[in-house]
Amino acid sequence: MNRKKEPTEIEGIIADIKKFRDERDWAKFHDAKNVAICLNVEAGELLETFLWKAAEEADAVKIREELADVFYSAFLLADHYGFDVGTIVRDKLEKNALKYPVAKAKGSRKKYDEL
Ligand SMILES: [Mg+2]
Repeated sequence: MNRKKEPTEIEGIIADIKKFRDERDWAKFHDAKNVAICLNVEAGELLETFLWKAAEEADAVKIREELADVFYSAFLLADHYGFDVGTIVRDKLEKNALKYPVAKAKGSRKKYDEL
């Protein structure tokens, strides 16, 4: 039987991002370096929503928009390298679980090399 795998939700989002990009002929600007810079700029814009405010004073509508911009760039960068987003995030969680064992890290803000 030759069954076609259904795209994951993230794969569908990446397809939508690439459609948006390609309709505007922007792929020529979206090399890995520029997308990585864009990711950092958008993360900065996300941070800006909190600047000079208590966390609860930040505008959730603006946070939502900047977070979407962060995901846009992050998903494009993952796609550029052929990374499956779910796999790389779960792989990193596994690595972090080894670096931060619950028995040592629970309730602690220390970095793994200080536990
Ligand atoms: Mg933005």
